[in-house]
Amino acid sequence: MQRPDVVPPPAAFAAQANVGPDVYAQAAADPFAFWAQQAGRLQWDRPWDQVFDDAQWPTARWFDGGRLNVAVNCVDRHVAAGHGDRVALHWEGEPGDRRTVTYAQLLADVSRLAHGLTELGVEAGDRVVLYLPVLVETVVATMACARIGAVVSLVFGGFSADALRFRVADTGAKLLIASDGQFRRGTAVGVKAAADEAVAGLAHVEHVLVVRRTGQDDVPWTAGRDVWWHELLERQPAHHEPASFDAEHPLFIVYTSGTTGRPKGLVHTTGGYLTHASWTHWALFDLEPDDVYWCQADLAWVTAHTYVLYGPLSNGATQVVYEGSPLTPHPGRHFEVIERYGVTTYYTAPTLVRTFMKHGPQLPAGYDLSSLRLLGSVGEAINPEAWRWLHEHVGGGRCPVVDTWWQSETGAAVVAPLPGVTALKPGSATVPLPGLSATVVDDAGTETPPGVEGNLVITAPWPGMARTVWGDHDRFVRSYWAPYAQQRWYLAGDSASKDDDGYIWIGGRIDDVLNISGHRLSSIELESALVAHPRVAEAAVVGAPDDITGQRIVAFVITRDDAGADDAGLAEELRAHVALRVGAVAKPREVVVVTDLPKTRSGKIMRRLMADLTAGRGGGDTTSLTDPAALDAVQDAWTAHRAGA
Ligand code: ATP
Ligand code: MG
Repeated sequence: MQRPDVVPPPAAFAAQANVGPDVYAQAAADPFAFWAQQAGRLQWDRPWDQVFDDAQWPTARWFDGGRLNVAVNCVDRHVAAGHGDRVALHWEGEPGDRRTVTYAQLLADVSRLAHGLTELGVEAGDRVVLYLPVLVETVVATMACARIGAVVSLVFGGFSADALRFRVADTGAKLLIASDGQFRRGTAVGVKAAADEAVAGLAHVEHVLVVRRTGQDDVPWTAGRDVWWHELLERQPAHHEPASFDAEHPLFIVYTSGTTGRPKGLVHTTGGYLTHASWTHWALFDLEPDDVYWCQADLAWVTAHTYVLYGPLSNGATQVVYEGSPLTPHPGRHFEVIERYGVTTYYTAPTLVRTFMKHGPQLPAGYDLSSLRLLGSVGEAINPEAWRWLHEHVGGGRCPVVDTWWQSETGAAVVAPLPGVTALKPGSATVPLPGLSATVVDDAGTETPPGVEGNLVITAPWPGMARTVWGDHDRFVRSYWAPYAQQRWYLAGDSASKDDDGYIWIGGRIDDVLNISGHRLSSIELESALVAHPRVAEAAVVGAPDDITGQRIVAFVITRDDAGADDAGLAEELRAHVALRVGAVAKPREVVVVTDLPKTRSGKIMRRLMADLTAGRGGGDTTSLTDPAALDAVQDAWTAHRAGA
């Protein structure tokens, strides 16, 4: 595989960076002391007795005995420090409406809602599910829950009633917070009916609190149960006395995106999580007081929990929060937002970069993006081609790109560069952050030599680690800890390899690794090779069962031009191209041109569904699919392809 370029941190960036090169050695010398120092960046009501305790392994305890309030850390203390007038949120709605919210205003609303939640009978430890678009109210609700110790779980506003019901029932929520409606690509649609359907018959749901967003005039209403947000808040005082909570008090439950199966509800707690979220946000994004930071993830994804809600707010950041689709009303919407607010730091996802690439470099070139100084990527391995495009056409070649590998389970970033320190290699999330240890091993636990695929493992405990799967501790132990129980390593479920410099290259899910005549090949490596071809916009590679080679490679590709499904020339071109870039063994046996790929709601390609298709299997979990029609179209293309083969 061609991996030539190394991009060192620009000297000017390195000179002003929050974190310098010494931090790696300092953290390695004593990781617990390092994390204790980072925990000291927070405001504690009672100091901890012990930094780390593994008596109940694999459920770790961090900062045991310590007490704190997350909302105080994220809101009150900034106001108390004299920054009440600082903008916390530049919120922009999809139709173009805008709100600027200062930390003082945020505090008043969080306090009112904390009183309001108490009025609705919500107590510490109770679960509250949010089924909301990306609104100021959504941010307020997470902070108000934290303030009173309620455990919050955010559900993507675009999920169906069924998907919501599963999460409301699984958490046993007492309260659901929903909106009357939401904007979907320019149209206001009602959502309250779906919320009602989701909670029907669930006796543990005592109230549904409704935020008026779209002003639908046909909001179904259940008297006694349903409460308007604005009416509840109107009658509450703007001052609220916060309680403090144990460092191991549960803060939120986040469901994984469901790429590999039924989503798992990971439980994160208070002190360790906030320490990991807060420090990594400050270090990774090199937060400066005059930065305008924008992480474009929906608030329901773990990305936004850590890098919109708890991380940036704990650091007193000023951030942009945008409600809508990146392509509404035009594909340049994000660039327009960057220009309007002078965004300095833009954290995005590979799927979106590939979408922008389809429109060509003239799309970002139409906007003034000179305010940008740092870029980030998360969610999937970023194809080197997409990395370079982002770096050059969005970042003007001057902004480091922090590719951050982490998961719902890890709470915050694990493998990622420090922008002022780490030399970057497009397509690699680089090396573990200070205080974190990760490597690549085979099934027996031996480190794989450079260039050889293996399992990515985290080899030492870290403060943001999930403590359990809600309601299914066995699944927590089985999925992540049982495979390397002896070593007490965490199995991430991703394949990876290391290069000669020790840089980690994520290869995809372990389940998606291809095995061709005994060669293990990573799906990401093959897809990146395909995406580097000028005619390919997106690609998904899966292994189909094969009598002779074990598996044969099937590549589903979206072309940039309008190559027909029967374009034999394209298939030949791509085979030759992959052979050149990766090797003859990696040549796709079959190339299927498609118009769309099945993705999760967070934009990840669901390879397992395509693998099922090529194996003639059905029945995989499709509940986290963003658009079932995409899978149908792939199915049709596959059937037509097989008929022609
Ligand atoms: P499920 O576990 O239910 O299948 P999921 O793993 O997609 O869902 P998340 O926890 O949101 O849910 O995603 C974490 C996964 O995303 C990682 O395990 C990895 O596969 C992928 N990922 C995230 N960031 C990166 C990155 N920078 N590089 C490579 N892969 C990444
Ligand atoms: Mg996962």
